[in-house]
Amino acid sequence: MVVHAVHNTRFIHKRGRMVTHLNQDAAAQAEIGQGSCLCGGIRYRLHGALPDFEACHCRHCQKAQGGPFVVVAAIEEPALQWLAGEDLLTAYRASPGKERVFCRRCGSPIFSRREDAPGRIRLRVGTLDGATGASIASHAHVASKADWFAIDDDRPQHAGSRPS
Ligand SMILES: [Zn+2]
Ligand SMILES: [Zn+2]
Repeated sequence: MVVHAVHNTRFIHKRGRMVTHLNQDAAAQAEIGQGSCLCGGIRYRLHGALPDFEACHCRHCQKAQGGPFVVVAAIEEPALQWLAGEDLLTAYRASPGKERVFCRRCGSPIFSRREDAPGRIRLRVGTLDGATGASIASHAHVASKADWFAIDDDRPQHAGSRPS
């Protein structure tokens, strides 16, 4: 039986099928970074391709971060793998149908999700550890930008939501 199994694998390899299959898996699951909350209780691993980093200057994000804006990356939920602290994730709804999820021990914002976009989350990329090689791709809700903060990049600015 064992000999048979090895035989089969080699056969598939020769025809190129197994090789293609393995390459696709590697691309889908490649780790692009790890992140954590302030207390370190929540830790995660991010897989896939590096998504665009988007800044949001709306009042809710300013309040939630205590800063002039938030930077998020929209990712599919399976791209995020929890390594620790899933039980610390706590949600707050500032607006209907949208959850802002944070660490209940240290308060770090981790991601948000909307009921009308199931399976998709907006990761707070400030929780990523180490270099990413990314830069901000665009700015949304600049109509409510903090007057004490100046945007000094040349990326697109949207008065309200980013057009999808
Ligand atoms: Zn924490
Ligand atoms: Zn916002």
